[in-house]
Amino acid sequence: MSVNKLPRASKEEYLLSLALSATIRSEDPWRRVAAIAADVNGHVLATGYNGSQAGEILTDDVWQDRELRLKSVVHAEMNVLSCVRKHEVHTVACTLAPCLHCAKSLVLWGVKNVVYMFDYNRDNEGVEYLRKRITVVKHNPQHIWQLTQVNVEALFKMQADSELAGGLTKQS
Ligand SMILES: [Zn+2]
Repeated sequence: MSVNKLPRASKEEYLLSLALSATIRSEDPWRRVAAIAADVNGHVLATGYNGSQAGEILTDDVWQDRELRLKSVVHAEMNVLSCVRKHEVHTVACTLAPCLHCAKSLVLWGVKNVVYMFDYNRDNEGVEYLRKRITVVKHNPQHIWQLTQVNVEALFKMQADSELAGGLTKQS
């Protein structure tokens, strides 16, 4: 019997797919961003997304005013770094190219490798800063989404097929 194998994500693709999912916790109405920190083996240490300080509620006035927003919102990369110790993170996977401030912090924290999907449309300073100091790789967001989507659709189909076949009796 031939086995219809789904493509298996690389560790970096896996982390980026997790980052895509983590954006669902962001409440930023303009751009939801997330970052995942992993150790040298690709094991997840922490997740973060852009938003307010813990316990702080940002009103619509703040979200609507760019200047106020910039003063209040904590970036996903800073949130994820706040959950880990220095030098324990090897890779940070970001949905969006890190800004210059976050890029500096990522290097300061001893991060060795940054992978991201979307370019930041205002400037490329963060990526340029990282490129001079550590590894930084841009992945195609369409590819990451496709890997994720194909897999999730297959999960639903497998579940539906197993329910049609009588549930748990037909497991592979
Ligand atoms: Zn930033």
